[in-house]
Amino acid sequence: MTLLDGISLSQAIRGELASEVDQRTAAGLRIPHLAAVLVGEDGASLTYVSAKVKACEQVGFRSTLLQFPESISEMELLLEVQRLNEDPEVDGYIVQLPLPEHIRDEMILLAIDPAKDVDGFHPENVGRMALGLDAFLPATPMGILTMLSRYKVETQGKHAVVVGRSSIVGLPMAILLQRNADPGNCTVTITHSRTRNLAELCRNADILIAAAGKPGFITADMVKEGAVVVDVGITRVPDVTRKTGFRIAGDVDFDEVSPKCSFITPVPGGVGPMTIVSLLSNTLLAVRRSGR
Ligand code: NDP
Repeated sequence: MTLLDGISLSQAIRGELASEVDQRTAAGLRIPHLAAVLVGEDGASLTYVSAKVKACEQVGFRSTLLQFPESISEMELLLEVQRLNEDPEVDGYIVQLPLPEHIRDEMILLAIDPAKDVDGFHPENVGRMALGLDAFLPATPMGILTMLSRYKVETQGKHAVVVGRSSIVGLPMAILLQRNADPGNCTVTITHSRTRNLAELCRNADILIAAAGKPGFITADMVKEGAVVVDVGITRVPDVTRKTGFRIAGDVDFDEVSPKCSFITPVPGGVGPMTIVSLLSNTLLAVRRSGR
């Protein structure tokens, strides 16, 4: 069994990004600038956004965190988005989800300039991705593809089963795995909460992507001998032995499942760091595309 180590791989990619920043600086080119919008006080969202901002600093990017109170109205937030679209100093930005209930996610996502949409959530980028055109790929599936590619995991002709169909993980993952590309060319089964015989489908997977957000949901009896298992799940589970009061749990019962796998991601330290580094890669792509 080979561990798909997202920490060491993301560090290597961060090193590549940092040297590209050095080259750009030496050539008098623009340093990428990522902005992140955070609404409200949600602890998990603040942790994720802070990690993204810190990662920018580590590779030499500029970064700005824009924090707004939970009470901000949809219209006010749309105006902030418009400002970011027009700000020539910002190459790319993200709006951390989920937003408060009184703000419609889709209204905000639709307002983001697709050329600055480094999360790849705007329908224009989703459509371009589906058609195999140049697009910002959503960071989590992009990170997983990078991981499969760098670890030379064969995907051609394999049966991939994706558990979860969300617009930010499961659906784009399924689209990307079936593309005529490398990594890609999988035969994909996409599953969700209404799927029948989920365990049986999973047992047929050469590549199993677990993105349901249910700790320990994928057990050994659901995994084929020699399968590649990618655990996207991140759930905070109460744990009184930790200073924080919680631990991070994946969707896969790692201890049970890992002995059966050819490759598997740990949680934490698997997909999470790859997601962040993919966001950085997209920000560099945004500045390159802008020609600045
Ligand atoms: P969502 O809650 O949006 O989607 C979960 C999906 O899982 C839904 O499609 C749902 O089906 C499906 N599902 C739920 N229960 C079952 C079940 N019993 N059997 C089969 N499918 C089921 O979550 P996200 O996609 O946003 O995130 C998934 C997980 O990944 C979460 O733990 C999240 O924290 C984590 N995550 C991790 C990232 C990382 O960087 N590592 C980045 C983003 C997310 P239905 O559509 O029918 O409701």
